[in-house]
Amino acid sequence: RGRLAKSNNVFGKGLLALLSRDRIDQDVWDEIEETLLLADLGTDASMELVDVLQRRVKVEGADDPAHVKAMLREELVKLVDPTMDRSLAVERKDSVPAVVLVVGVNGVGKTTTVGKLARVLVAEDKEVVLGAADTFRAAAADQLSTWGARVGVPTVRSDVEGADPASVAYDSVVAGIEEEADVVMIDTAGRLQNKAGLMDQLGKIKRVVEKAAAVDEVLLVIDATTGQNGMTQARVFSEAVDVTGIVLTKLDGTAKGGIVVAIQRALGVPVKLIGLGEGPDDLAPFDPESFVDALLD
Ligand code: GDP
Repeated sequence: RGRLAKSNNVFGKGLLALLSRDRIDQDVWDEIEETLLLADLGTDASMELVDVLQRRVKVEGADDPAHVKAMLREELVKLVDPTMDRSLAVERKDSVPAVVLVVGVNGVGKTTTVGKLARVLVAEDKEVVLGAADTFRAAAADQLSTWGARVGVPTVRSDVEGADPASVAYDSVVAGIEEEADVVMIDTAGRLQNKAGLMDQLGKIKRVVEKAAAVDEVLLVIDATTGQNGMTQARVFSEAVDVTGIVLTKLDGTAKGGIVVAIQRALGVPVKLIGLGEGPDDLAPFDPESFVDALLD
């Protein structure tokens, strides 16, 4: 939270400075909208937020900065939507492990997220098995195995580069069933060829895995620093596979936390986890209230 607050100062400081002007006139509202856009909140949400604030200032007849700040906080929390279910389906049930597929473009932080999340689950006394279904790059499986060793969980992988990702995914679920694990987490390849190719690949992984156990969670990992570009990629993935949650990584490296709102609105899926650094402890559950507080800090 500390790191998030610091890196997101541009957002908070900018808005709060604007709201501290003696008179909040149309120019100030325009500047507020611009700041929201710069923070990657998205056009619709930015306009909506300014509209709501302006209306409330009129109705509530109070435009002193402290009051408007409190309103801004409230309305931002509403936009981030605290009513969404952000829990992770990571409980073993009916004698089979929960299966979590992790998808997203190369370089967004999938493997790192799998490693960090495995660590969180292990700390909760869960048995975890990792599956290296990114078989296109030999280094990818090595990287996942390294995380597995670090966290103390087994990694199922193929020795053959270019092996069928679906069969590695299947093998990891079977291993998880045999070892009576709680969770099997599968890291997938992020080569964004085209939508059809991606659908084929992810669809096949899901179908084949489901011969052994249901897929409980499909986490789409998005790099917060990539802005609109990341959004476009995210849309392609969400059309290719039913995403159940978003992991927004590299929030430590951007002043544009508004991307959370834009992504959730575009995909209709909650942000469940956030990445705040490269280290094993730099993963946190997403909490709308503290996120907005950090934005405005
Ligand atoms: P993948 O290709 O999607 O599996 O991505 P990786 O897990 O290999 O991560 C790509 C790079 O991003 C690595 O250098 C990671 O250490 C880094 N990374 C991942 N998550 C975060 C994060 O939350 N913050 C920062 N600063 N770096 C991250």
